[in-house]
Amino acid sequence: MSTSIERVCECLKILEGLSGRLDMARELGEFLKVLDNRERGPFVYLVQGQLNPPFRGGETGMSTRLVLRAIARAAKDAGIPLETSPETLLGNLGDMGNLAETVFIGRKGESLPFLRVFETMESLSRQEGEGSQEEKIRSLADLFLKLSPLSTRFVARFVVGKLRLGVGDATIIDALSQWQGGKPARKPIENGYNLCSDLGRIATILGEQGIEGVRCLRPSPGFPIRMALCERLSSGEEIFEKIGACPVESKYDGFRCQVHTDGDRVQVFSRNLEETTLMFPEIVAATRTLFGTRPAIFEGEALGYNPETGGYHPFQVTITRKRKHNVKEKSDEIPLKMLVFDLMFLDGESWLEQPFLKRREQLEKIFPTHAFAVDEMEVAPTGVFGTSRMIMADHPSVIDHFFDEVLEEGFEGIIAKRREGTYTAGSRNFNWIKLKKSYKDALSDTLDLVVIGYYRGKGQRTRLGIGAVLTAAYDAELDRLVSIARIGSGLTEEEWVALRGALDETVVPERPHSVLSEIVPDFWVEPKFVVTVRADDITRSPQHMCGRRDGEEGYALRFPRMTAPPRADKDPQDATSVREIESMYQKQKTLSARHRVKEEGSRED
Ligand code: ATP
Repeated sequence: MSTSIERVCECLKILEGLSGRLDMARELGEFLKVLDNRERGPFVYLVQGQLNPPFRGGETGMSTRLVLRAIARAAKDAGIPLETSPETLLGNLGDMGNLAETVFIGRKGESLPFLRVFETMESLSRQEGEGSQEEKIRSLADLFLKLSPLSTRFVARFVVGKLRLGVGDATIIDALSQWQGGKPARKPIENGYNLCSDLGRIATILGEQGIEGVRCLRPSPGFPIRMALCERLSSGEEIFEKIGACPVESKYDGFRCQVHTDGDRVQVFSRNLEETTLMFPEIVAATRTLFGTRPAIFEGEALGYNPETGGYHPFQVTITRKRKHNVKEKSDEIPLKMLVFDLMFLDGESWLEQPFLKRREQLEKIFPTHAFAVDEMEVAPTGVFGTSRMIMADHPSVIDHFFDEVLEEGFEGIIAKRREGTYTAGSRNFNWIKLKKSYKDALSDTLDLVVIGYYRGKGQRTRLGIGAVLTAAYDAELDRLVSIARIGSGLTEEEWVALRGALDETVVPERPHSVLSEIVPDFWVEPKFVVTVRADDITRSPQHMCGRRDGEEGYALRFPRMTAPPRADKDPQDATSVREIESMYQKQKTLSARHRVKEEGSRED
């Protein structure tokens, strides 16, 4: 039995009224039971505000202007007189969904199957080229004419990409687990998701084969594996204490690339699992040459290379490769090298569970290892690929020595890897430990924070129209973005203006569902842009929501500044987490206690 769009939209309406992660998951979990299995995948994408899993992209391609025209057209066809233009109404109501619902209020609507509506929305994304705009307006207007007012609300929001239910991946995983019997199902579902990054696919497999189906999932070319992430420590000694003798690698500052080949098609995915294949023609070509028909998934860091000096470019130069047009010219100007550091899948077998040193051994059989160390200096590979430079450290001093050496060479630090560590997809743990220069200075690392709002400029900044941004960290437990800092420095005037332009495109009338903040900025924005932030200290503050629990104050930043405009390789859910901020705060306390003891000691001397 197919489910009607009306029924689906009633569920969305309930979700919209809920704010707690548990309530949302319960509601979603119940609704998943009601759906037919063909509907589950599309329903999950719908709730995520997408037509496909995020790595496939595929937006409806409908701008606000086109949707307004579709509403006007449908109103005309239905004989609904519009005393005020849809543009003005939108200005008054501030939301496309409310506008559509208001215009079509009182209409009955047909009982359309949800899948039919979803397919119509998908077909909008496929209409391209001459005349396609008119076609899209026609198709959407026809759809509006068949829907109830409630359904027009959600369909209109969806097609302009502003569904904003505040349901994050973690909440969907909870919902899938509830549907599959609760807590014991969560881990296998989460693991399955980490292997394919596609919650719609997980929902479909669960419906067809139950939890066993998800347990049997293996990496598969074309489905990005959620990336393994590093923990931080501040010295060779701490690293050695934690994982003992270990391999240590140079930490390169470029683009993380996860390369997939199924023996025919080669794809490259970025840190936030977007497909970036077109940016890296040389990686695609070199993969074809090296692997032929062998299917594989591997990972490494791509760096711009300067043939004149024989060295790598800094990230600021490498990033200029990030473009969709004139890729060929740019790749001639800034050739790339890829330093490969992990292997996840080969010849139909998963390598995720193999100990690190075994994966590395296999990696070295496949890729040329001449990437490094002539007279202790790293030299680039002659072809596109080389394995990352690695040494074996059997003493803390070896780690520290290697660290100093790579810094002298201009790299940003090192990554130590647990010898027997598996590739822990989607998880940050001590299997990989990064040590960067900044950890030895004041506040450990930089933070990646999500912009959730901005303030009009005052004084000198009035003419820029922006004075500061309000930012948030990610609370994985709540599946919410929680405010942590108002930031008014770090960018050039041009960068502020560009940031304001980008933020203006995403202004929303009220605090988004996915955000928790008691501080109210002049403008709320859709949480979309991630900025890297440096600060002097993490402090406790009653103002912010980050880390606020059981009567304890939240965390805030002292003297925060952005280090650059928003970074494109991170999504809001990749922002620094509350757990990380908590551990940075603890570390900072220990460091300053040590510092005090040292100072007191030297005063006594
Ligand atoms: P994170 O990925 O931990 O959220 P981030 O993206 O801000 O943080 P860093 O904290 O600087 O990046 O460090 C981790 C990144 O370092 C990896 O995502 C990867 O892109 C890069 N990297 C460079 N060299 C290596 C290496 N040898 N092994 C693993 N990762 C490496």
